[in-house]
Formats: sequence, structure tokens, C-alpha cells
Amino acid sequence: MKRVAVVGGGIFGATAAIYAARAGHEVHLFEKESDVLQAASGINQYRLHRGYHYPRSSDTARSAKEADVSFRDEYREAVIENGRHIYAIAKEGSLVAPEAFLAFCREQGLEVKEIPAEPHLVPNLVALVVEGEESWMDPAALRRVVLKKLKESGVELHLNTRATPEMLESFDTVVLATYARLNELVPPEVDVTQEYQYEVCEKPVVRLSGLENIGIVVLDGPFMCADPWGDSGLHVLGNVVHAIHATNIGRTPIIPENLAPLLDRGLIKNPPITKIQDFIASGSQYIPALGTAEHVGSLFTIRTVLPRLEKTDARPTIVTKLSDRYIRIFSGKIGNCVEAAKEVVALL
Ligand SMILES: Cc1cc2nc3c(=O)[nH]c(=O)nc-3n(C[C@H](O)[C@H](O)[C@H](O)COP(=O)(O)OP(=O)(O)OC[C@H]3O[C@@H](n4cnc5c(N)ncnc54)[C@H](O)[C@@H]3O)c2cc1C
Repeated sequence: MKRVAVVGGGIFGATAAIYAARAGHEVHLFEKESDVLQAASGINQYRLHRGYHYPRSSDTARSAKEADVSFRDEYREAVIENGRHIYAIAKEGSLVAPEAFLAFCREQGLEVKEIPAEPHLVPNLVALVVEGEESWMDPAALRRVVLKKLKESGVELHLNTRATPEMLESFDTVVLATYARLNELVPPEVDVTQEYQYEVCEKPVVRLSGLENIGIVVLDGPFMCADPWGDSGLHVLGNVVHAIHATNIGRTPIIPENLAPLLDRGLIKNPPITKIQDFIASGSQYIPALGTAEHVGSLFTIRTVLPRLEKTDARPTIVTKLSDRYIRIFSGKIGNCVEAAKEVVALL
């Protein structure tokens, strides 16, 4: 049995902690916020990806589809089934052609039903509309299940605790699952810090009429999506361009002063900074229901991706043994968290 410190109470750190504790280790999970899943794991587009989103990266699509099975087994109570998942290819400016998208879905074994006339999209702007078999995650339910499983598995949870190098000295193994802060606790003698691309993102939450239990994605380029926000009856908007308020490539994120207080704070009503008008102006060209969207507030967090992968848009999850004592989880899609946790246990 080892004494294991897991740093970061997002879905990847929490799941690794649960699996390590179930494997018989003494596990302490450190989270600097007052609850688990407050950062990217609680603020995202809530799509439990099976691959449709990644026609330019078959590796990402394949691993999402494979991982989907173990995520559902572990976190079934947080999975929202039975919605309509509409994927559309824009006529202009799409990075994937309709035929190529259909061929990709066939290769990946992704079910698609072509929709000849989808009333929620402007017909002359889309070249292809299909319905796929996917799900969403309910962030509130996921938080509840994670807390329950942390307790049941015997993980000692330290909330409001920012881990420091001194705190971690007494542990046999340290698992870093700090996403936007992955380089901060890498000890200097383990010279393996890495550059990431950081994006300070806004997710507007809106009230839409006529889109209950419907998610729409316009692929694949400078486009947008709208998906249900848990069971709130509201939607979260995504936009490849307008969601990003600031971005940098480096060892740590550079966060503009005016955005820092908004990050990982849940829903902010009347945010002092917002691009909601841009979301609505560009989104409503394709999805008319967005034209009458009521802005309820916005969520802000940092997305961390590998740099310079615009060509494929790949989102790998990478578990690395950095040294005798340190393991790093770089996370891609949420559905991959259980498979990543199993890799961590194998490395312990
Ligand atoms: C805008 C956006 C949309 C996305 N959409 C989707 C989607 O639809 N589907 C999908 O599958 N994925 C999506 N993703 C990606 C997904 O959200 C992330 O890959 C995943 O949530 C990251 O989980 P994590 O546990 O690695 O990190 P996080 O959830 O960010 O957790 C890291 C935790 O570490 C804590 N921490 C940092 N430093 C310390 C320290 N020193 N001590 C203690 N705690 C510390 C932080 O407070 C944080 O809680 C999206 C991401 C973003 C940002």
C-alpha cells in the first residue's frame, strides 16, 4: 500500500483518487476550491463525446467512443440520455466536407440518421444535417456522484487546500491532475514542464425556446453549438471564435486582470465582460432560435490543450510517469477519465 497524493479535484483527479483508493492505497485528494469539479470539469459544453465532433482526428474519435463505455459504467447517474444530438456541416467554410464526414462516421462505427429538413437550422446555409447517438453530462449530478464515490472508496478529501511542494514531500506518489496548472508543482529536479495552449473561455447560459432536450453543433471550423445545461431547462452556448477571451502558449496561463475574478466561480449573472452579442449574432445565422435567446449569465474557465494542433483539433488524454514519485494526467475529453484512472493505478 502506498500513500498517494492526488492534486486537483476535477473529474480526472477525483476519478484517479477513487480508483487508487479502491486498489488499496491510502489516498489524499487536494483541491484548492471549496468543492470538487469547480473548474473545467464543472464548466464546459457537457457533451459526453463519442467521436462525432472530431472528424479530423480519428484517434480522438476512437478513444472517445471506447472510453464512453467505462465512463457510463462509473457515472451512469450523471449521464443525460434520450436527447436529440444534431450535427450540421455548413455550406461555406467547413473544414470537413459532407461526404467526408459521413465516411468518417461509417469508419468509426458512429450511427447517423440524415435529416433532410431540420427546422432548427437555416436550410440554405447547411450542406448536411444528421442526428447522432450521443449524451450529455449533468454537472450537478456528476459532482454529487463523485463526492459519494470519494467517500465510499475512503479517499481523504482536502478542500480549500492549495497543494504546495512541502505538503507533498511525505507522500510516496504524487498524481498531478491540475489541468491549467499542470506545470506548477513539477519539482525542479524533474525537468519535464511542457508548453500548453491556454484559452480563457466564456460559456454563456441562455434560455431558448423550442430547443428542449436538443443539442446542435455546426461543424467543423469557425462555428458554434448549443447544448442543454443539466436539467435546468437552459442551454450553454459554444463558439470556436467568440468563446475565447484570451489565449497564450506557454508554461502557465496568462490571465487578463479583468477576467481573473470571473474564473471557476459558477454562473455569473450580468457579467462585467461578455461576448454574448457576438455569440448570438453569429449563431442565429444558422440556428434561428438563438436570435431570441435570453442571456441568463455566463460561466468562465480555462481550457488547456496541446499547442499547435489546429489542423487536427486532436484532444488526447496522456498519463505520464514523470519520475519515481510523480505522475501527470493531461486530460482531453471528460469521458476518458476512467481509462486515465486505470492507467494511473497501473503506474502506482
Ligand atoms: C469551455 C470548455 C468546453 C469543453 N467542452 C467539453 C465537452 O463538451 N466534453 C468534454 O468531454 N470535455 C470538454 N472540455 C474539456 C474538459 O472539460 C476537460 O478536459 C476536463 O474537465 C479537465 O478535467 P481535469 O480534472 O483535468 O481539470 P479541472 O476540472 O480543471 O480540475 C483541475 C483542478 O485542479 C485544481 N488545482 C489546480 N492547482 C491546484 C493546487 N496547487 N492545489 C489544489 N488544487 C489545485 C483546480 O482548482 C481544479 O479544480 C471542455 C473544456 C472547456 C474549458
